[in-house]
Amino acid sequence: MDSTIAIVGAGVGGLATAALAHDAGHRVTLFERFETPRPLGSGLVIQPVGLAVLDAIGAGAQARAMGQPITHMLGHEVSGREVLNVAYRSAAPGLALHRSALFQTLWDQCLARAIPVITSSTVDSAPLRADKREITLTDGRRFGPFDLVVDTSGAASRLSPLTARALPFGAVWGTVPWPDGCDFAPDQLRQCYRAARNMVGVLPLGQRPGLPGRHAAVFWSLPVTQLADWANTDMSAWRAQATDLWPRIAPFLTTLTQSADLTPARYSHGTLRRPYAPALAFVGDSAHRASPQLGQGANMALLDAMALVTALRMEHPLHAYAAMRRWHVRSYQAMSAVFTPMYQSDSTLLPRLRNHLLAPFAPLPGIRHLLTRLVSGDMLPPLAGQVFPQQPPTKA
Ligand SMILES: Cc1cc2nc3c(=O)[nH]c(=O)nc-3n(C[C@H](O)[C@H](O)[C@H](O)COP(=O)(O)OP(=O)(O)OC[C@H]3O[C@@H](n4cnc5c(N)ncnc54)[C@H](O)[C@@H]3O)c2cc1C
Repeated sequence: MDSTIAIVGAGVGGLATAALAHDAGHRVTLFERFETPRPLGSGLVIQPVGLAVLDAIGAGAQARAMGQPITHMLGHEVSGREVLNVAYRSAAPGLALHRSALFQTLWDQCLARAIPVITSSTVDSAPLRADKREITLTDGRRFGPFDLVVDTSGAASRLSPLTARALPFGAVWGTVPWPDGCDFAPDQLRQCYRAARNMVGVLPLGQRPGLPGRHAAVFWSLPVTQLADWANTDMSAWRAQATDLWPRIAPFLTTLTQSADLTPARYSHGTLRRPYAPALAFVGDSAHRASPQLGQGANMALLDAMALVTALRMEHPLHAYAAMRRWHVRSYQAMSAVFTPMYQSDSTLLPRLRNHLLAPFAPLPGIRHLLTRLVSGDMLPPLAGQVFPQQPPTKA
């Protein structure tokens, strides 16, 4: 206990690790590349397992007050045929949040703990050997030595050795006000597909900090070749294309008049076999990346944070951290690799499998239960060998 920890990146994993490690009695310093830490992008779903970590940090109540409970994930083909219908347990829905709302809840927790944050500091390198525990910034400044460096700098990490495979499809994401008089249930994530080539969806989000009313995220799947040219999109032609796919989405598109109203997101897939080096741990997207099709990335970062801080009490902490998370991470990575091309690819076979083989079996009781556990994040124990949810680690 009472070790010094440098955390690289004030995103989901970094802020959660900082709060949990502080509560466990460690001396934590956060390094963030931005002058003012801020989230990028639109919305995401925090699954019940991720909410348990937010609760352990003390951020759960604020997150629930800002967000929108999600009870169902629904998807249909352009023909109207339902091909996805996954329900959460009624007592444990998912929580959809704008990224800025999630960021605010975690940031407030770090502020309340007076955790030092060094902003405008892009970390360039960190120790890969046990005897050199410093971090070096791109401007040449050096900090340390630390007992441990935690890389939570996400998909663009300079420290992680992970080489992820770029996925052939990404998406553009926009945030819109919830349309007046809209007859969509506010607790359902909904998607419409044409095979796996086209997908448009709506995720109800709840509130955005500082803005009135409720919001939704709109997403539109695109091959990466077209994603690069998104800035030149004719928006009225795009709105016509999206409403041709799914006419009922029209009210959500009226405020999306410029291509800059939607942000392109590229996806990649890969997993570090060993999410640590001597005195360096990888948490979140720096350790594993996947498409957001299963909605697990932020949850994985939160679970990693909880596992790492729990493991710091153990004899071989980094080894224990990896063991605690190994099978949960690997099973979700495998599921994401299997399911993503059924929803985003040029394949004609895979969406047929989805529609004619998987969809008819999904309502069967055993399969329905399995799908509920899959989206909820507890298909396997999130922290192997530990009771979960657990009481947060406390000072010895
Ligand atoms: C479009 C989209 C939709 C998604 N939907 C979902 C969803 O529904 N549910 C879900 O659970 N997940 C979802 N995800 C995934 C989720 O957003 C990520 O998995 C999660 O944010 C990873 O957290 P992290 O802490 O690893 O990285 P991040 O949250 O990306 O944080 C990284 C931080 O590090 C900082 N940083 C980067 N490099 C440096 C450096 N060199 N030095 C200092 N600071 C640095 C960044 O500025 C940032 O603040 C989605 C992702 C995308 C792209």
